[in-house]
Amino acid sequence: MIDLQKLIRPNILELISFTNTTPEKQERDSQHIMLDANENPYNKPFNRYPSDDQIELKEELAKLKGVTSKEIFLSNGSTEAIDMCYRIFCQPKVDNVVAIEPTCELYKRFARLNDIEYRSVLLNEYFQLNASELLRACNKQTKLIWLCSPNTPTGNILNVEEVEKVVKGFNGIVVIDEAYADFSRSQTFRERVSEFPNMIVINTFSKAWASAAIRLGVIYAQEAIINVFNKVSSPYSINQLTQEQAIDVLRHRYDIEDWIKILLLERKRMISAFASLTCCEKVYPSNANFFLAQMKDAESVYNYLCEKGITVRNCSNLSLCNNCLRITIGSKAENAEILGILRCYKPTK
Ligand SMILES: *Cc1c(COP(=O)(O)O)cnc(C)c1O
Repeated sequence: MIDLQKLIRPNILELISFTNTTPEKQERDSQHIMLDANENPYNKPFNRYPSDDQIELKEELAKLKGVTSKEIFLSNGSTEAIDMCYRIFCQPKVDNVVAIEPTCELYKRFARLNDIEYRSVLLNEYFQLNASELLRACNKQTKLIWLCSPNTPTGNILNVEEVEKVVKGFNGIVVIDEAYADFSRSQTFRERVSEFPNMIVINTFSKAWASAAIRLGVIYAQEAIINVFNKVSSPYSINQLTQEQAIDVLRHRYDIEDWIKILLLERKRMISAFASLTCCEKVYPSNANFFLAQMKDAESVYNYLCEKGITVRNCSNLSLCNNCLRITIGSKAENAEILGILRCYKPTK
């Protein structure tokens, strides 16, 4: 069992103890004249602050994901959720976090921003983690472990048994970023929130849900953790337009499932087409809406594509990703175009 009180930063604990659940908020919905928040009576419906508990949206999500609305926290993109994990659990200059490498760059970025030591443990050649190695990198001041599955830029799912060992063997919080889980049929840790009191699962509307513009991230965790996020969050952080659009997307999810199906077929087609390109050395299997391809000369291919107006991610500077490009699966037409252009590529050396 974890002791949440001990994991939370002292200043946050203090803040939480002062934040009582404001009764006015509940009453507000039932009033017909609201003169308490200095809003403007004109310009309806944009004049009012949005729902602060986002209950309608959370209930829609809860139904779909098989959790309760009390196990959900919504953030301004999952980027904000990542930042909040640091701000809630990590004392600047004192605490540290442990992450796998290579992985999503946001975890390191927010460690720097919050002045938290970032320790990384290299994955093996199959981009898999070793639980005991990861746990060995932790000390008393390690508050968070960052995992990402399917991982980026590698595209693979992390071995479930190893992840479980990490969650069970660690006395702090394990954050599992499942931004790409909807592109894979494997079991998710999101579905297992009730098993692990020290686990936070992060999802996003930006990838499979095709809604990057609305900036909506989701945290799934047990109620005790969600309560802390609720109390620390900025007031009215999820704007009204985002809430309405997300509800609409959730109610029309059949489109989403169709898009995912098409993207998975295209992924298969793209991966085999890439494997037969002369400029390509190796393609890694993927459980996400992108794949990692090792090129003979990534820099040169990257520049060539740029000149043709096509942008991909050059991952050459990341550990274990020498000469690798990360390619997102686009529309059928976009995928056909990049393949056609790469077939005409002539090596510069
Ligand atoms: C895209 C991505 C994010 C950021 O998601 P937003 O919700 O758009 O902020 C976070 N984590 C991973 C692994 C991602 O790929």
